[in-house]
Amino acid sequence: MSIPTLPRPGGIPSELETAPDRTPAAGIPTVSGQLGVRRPDVDVVIIGAGPYGLSVAAHLSAAGVSVQVLGRPMSYWRDHMPRGMLLRSSWEASHIADPGRAHTLDAYERQLATAIGRPIPLDRFVDYGLWFAGRLVPGIDTSMATRVERDGLGFRVVLENGDALQAGRVVVATGLDGFAHIPVVFASISPEQVIHASDLVDPNRLSGRQVAVIGGGQSALETAALIHEAGAAVRVLTRASRLRWLRRSQRLHGQQGLARRLLYPPTDVGPPGLNQIVARPPLWRQLPGPLGARVAYRCIRPAGAGWLVERLAGVPLETGRTVESAEERPDGLRLVLEDGSHLDVEHVVLATGYRVDVGRLPFLGPELLSRLRRPTGYPHLRGGFESSVPGLHFVGAASALSWGPVMRFVSGTTFTARALTEAVIRSGIPAAR
Ligand SMILES: Cc1cc2nc3c(=O)[nH]c(=O)nc-3n(C[C@H](O)[C@H](O)[C@H](O)COP(=O)(O)OP(=O)(O)OC[C@H]3O[C@@H](n4cnc5c(N)ncnc54)[C@H](O)[C@@H]3O)c2cc1C
Repeated sequence: MSIPTLPRPGGIPSELETAPDRTPAAGIPTVSGQLGVRRPDVDVVIIGAGPYGLSVAAHLSAAGVSVQVLGRPMSYWRDHMPRGMLLRSSWEASHIADPGRAHTLDAYERQLATAIGRPIPLDRFVDYGLWFAGRLVPGIDTSMATRVERDGLGFRVVLENGDALQAGRVVVATGLDGFAHIPVVFASISPEQVIHASDLVDPNRLSGRQVAVIGGGQSALETAALIHEAGAAVRVLTRASRLRWLRRSQRLHGQQGLARRLLYPPTDVGPPGLNQIVARPPLWRQLPGPLGARVAYRCIRPAGAGWLVERLAGVPLETGRTVESAEERPDGLRLVLEDGSHLDVEHVVLATGYRVDVGRLPFLGPELLSRLRRPTGYPHLRGGFESSVPGLHFVGAASALSWGPVMRFVSGTTFTARALTEAVIRSGIPAAR
């Protein structure tokens, strides 16, 4: 039986008109589910509705590719970032890329008719993402994907309610979800006492408590400021020998025209010079492996925004500190430090970052994982962000090893969405096997 594809918007590129036959082969399970609801198949299923999923969806749709996005829009920003957070990325590096360049933060601000603060407040950025989704990505299905499997033509994507979709390609755009890093010394402590920063949405929850924040980057420093402002007694412990602050030079940032573009490309990742390399992912990719890794690290090494310094006045910031062990006690935790001293606190907040390992994505089954080249946890991606499994793409943080550090930030959506869309149109749907 032939399954209808979604109607295509006008302006379909001729390459797509001549794409391989997408009629599912007999016997392919295109439909399942407790409710027995039939779903049409689509060219591309995008898992995740954060900035990357939304941007890729907007570009593919504009190119005439039928798309189904899964997941709650901007949910990571709503459910895993602390209320009151301000974005570290600059205004010009925080637009979610759209094909017509018409759905920028500026356009959203004009529509709001209210000035948005700089730095951008988290809740405003979430609203911007929802506005973007509402305008450019209709028909998002907020279900989670629970399983992705290959089938004869492409992929079968199973949703949490048991329904299934058949897709020619799948784009995994799940960001940092599931990759929070918990150092081994804290692994066995209860999550009530040791909280990863990605689980601390309401800083007021720690009001009046004694808290140690572990880490020395933006997340640690901003979380410490928010908890401090909520009335907790906070100290920051970092292994680094010193803290780094990102201060924007008024003189350099005040440049206009060519000078400005040379000093600071809009991606806004890395110091002048290196920022030009990483702003061009194909150029960064040409660097020999160890040099590419050094450049990437230099561009994203832990540092706090300069505007946090004042807010952290009164918060002890201890460098050169390593927690050797942690022991639960009736009234909190005892941390033993590198010099043998100990520190008693009620809670620890781990701003210890994320470790990308796509092997931990719960929806990728063993058969797919066995075919996925991912020696370090990151998938190896070729042009079009396609993995070693034809038709399976990864965008956002999971693509950073292949395409550079800009992929960890919203500003990487510009390159990603265009490159992926061009590749999909060039190679057809489903992917050639
Ligand atoms: C505290 C913090 C502050 C940050 N600040 C900035 C900043 O100022 N500027 C910046 O550019 N970047 C910032 N980042 C990085 C930011 O996470 C990325 O830039 C951005 O979120 C990447 O977008 P994404 O679409 O890849 O991921 P996300 O925005 O995380 O979206 C992924 C989505 O996938 C969903 N998902 C996961 N699994 C499934 C599933 N099985 N089915 C359906 N959906 C699923 C998730 O719920 C999530 O909504 C920050 C990160 C953190 C942790």
